Amino acid sequence: MSEKKSIATHVKSTSGVDVMHCYQCGKCTAGCVQAERMDYPPSYIMRLLQTGSQENYEKVLRSRSIWVCLNCENCYERCPQSIDIPHVMDMLRVESLKRGIAHKDASKIIAFHRSFLSQIKNTGRLWEVGMEAEYKLRTMDLMQDVCLVPSMLSKGKLSILPESIKDKASVKKIFDRTVGTEKGK
Ligand code: SF4
Ligand code: SF4
Repeated sequence: MSEKKSIATHVKSTSGVDVMHCYQCGKCTAGCVQAERMDYPPSYIMRLLQTGSQENYEKVLRSRSIWVCLNCENCYERCPQSIDIPHVMDMLRVESLKRGIAHKDASKIIAFHRSFLSQIKNTGRLWEVGMEAEYKLRTMDLMQDVCLVPSMLSKGKLSILPESIKDKASVKKIFDRTVGTEKGK
C-alpha cells in the first residue's frame, strides 16, 4: 500500500471519513468561524492529509487548528461532499495526544477537557466547583474568574458539594475502555 493511501486509509478507518473525496472547493474554510485563529484552515488540513506525506501528517497533528476547532459543524453543513471535518478533527486530537505532540497553545484546552472528564468519571455528573478547582491547579491560573464565584454561589448557579449518579460503576467502565492511551495525562 502506498504511503499516500495509507494515511487516508488510516484516517478513514479511525474516523470513518474519506478525506480523498475532498476536491478543495474551499467552502468549509469560507464558513469556518475559527479559520482566522488556525495555522491551517480546514480545507488545507484536508489537503495535507490527502498528500499522504508523513511530514504533512505530523504537521497536522502538531497544528493549532485541530485544537481551536469548535466542532460547530458549519464546514460539514457546507461541504458538497459531506465530509465530516469535525469528526476528523476529533480523531486528529486523539492521535496528537497519543503521540504527545499537541500544540503548546492547546495546554489550557487539554487541561479543561481533563478537568471536565475527571468530574464525570468520579461522580457521573459535572460538578462545576470541582472542575474549576482542578482546572486552576492544572493551569496554575489560580485567580482567573475568582471574583465571579460569590455571586454565582448566591444565585445558586454553583453547588458546594458534588452529586453522584447511582450507577457510577458503568461510567467507570466506559472510562476504562476509552481513556488512558494518550501521553502526558
Ligand atoms: S467544503 Fe468539502 S470538498 Fe470543499 S474543500 Fe471543504 S472538505 Fe473539501
Ligand atoms: S467544525 Fe471546526 S473546522 Fe468546521 S467550521 Fe467549525 S470550527 Fe471550523
